[in-house]
Amino acid sequence: MESFPFTAGQFISAVATDGNGKQQTRAYSISSAADRNRFSLCVNRVEGGFFSNYLADLKAGDSIQIHGPHGHFVLHEPVTDSILVATGTGVAPMRSYTEWLFPKDGPDRSGGKEVWLVYGTRHETDIYYQEEFEALEKRVPNFHYLPTLSRSLESWPGRRGHVQVHIAKIVEERAKRLGLPLPAPPVDPAIPPAELKFDIYVYICGLNFMVSGVRDLMTGYGWHRKQIVFERYD
Ligand SMILES: Cc1cc2nc3c(=O)[nH]c(=O)nc-3n(C[C@H](O)[C@H](O)[C@H](O)COP(=O)(O)OP(=O)(O)OC[C@H]3O[C@@H](n4cnc5c(N)ncnc54)[C@H](O)[C@@H]3O)c2cc1C
Repeated sequence: MESFPFTAGQFISAVATDGNGKQQTRAYSISSAADRNRFSLCVNRVEGGFFSNYLADLKAGDSIQIHGPHGHFVLHEPVTDSILVATGTGVAPMRSYTEWLFPKDGPDRSGGKEVWLVYGTRHETDIYYQEEFEALEKRVPNFHYLPTLSRSLESWPGRRGHVQVHIAKIVEERAKRLGLPLPAPPVDPAIPPAELKFDIYVYICGLNFMVSGVRDLMTGYGWHRKQIVFERYD
């Protein structure tokens, strides 16, 4: 295949036959920006799971069957201020976004908009792409990296607790800085949903209990459902 075009945030479906001869298909978010015929995935082993372990056991040079790209978990354009929220491997599409927004060897696509990545894991050892995001934060003044641990060791010098705590700070500080009311006033119901435009969106990816919690938080701030874009892994 000469090229594999996709939009940052989309996923592929991988297909394989399990030990009982049954065909299995699972979705995996692409964790890189489009780059000719190359892309990367971020997969963790699920205990007792078939596909995650099948992928994790592949050796260099092995082939797998995939179809795609699929999905609508993509950034609104033109790019706005954006809060990216992920737990675990839910960081995969966020890395695809940041590679696309802030390419190392091409023009910036963020238009100077503020982009926060709030990334929750249990332990420090579960943080994917930590060095990359830290380097990106140093290189790009409008990218803000906020990893947070829910089960940190005493020695962890960074943020603690669930992602919601840190999202709340971002939303409240931004509203204060820009002099915006919180909760945000309801949008004019006369505007058709397809025409609604907002100056900030939240993109949430991970397991359902986290996604639901963050959606509830944003709704509590008066955010419109169209401003809350999400992908659930379970
Ligand atoms: C749109 C989309 C994108 C996805 N992208 C990714 C990705 O980038 N990286 C990635 O690792 N996974 C991703 N997933 C999850 C992935 O599709 C599989 O569900 C996961 O790899 C487990 O598959 P399995 O065959 O190993 O386990 P299964 O045999 O399907 O499940 C085994 C058990 O584990 C539970 N389980 C399933 N998924 C998880 C999980 N993620 N964490 C904990 N328990 C789980 C199940 O409920 C079940 O009880 C994505 C899912 C969707 C819907």
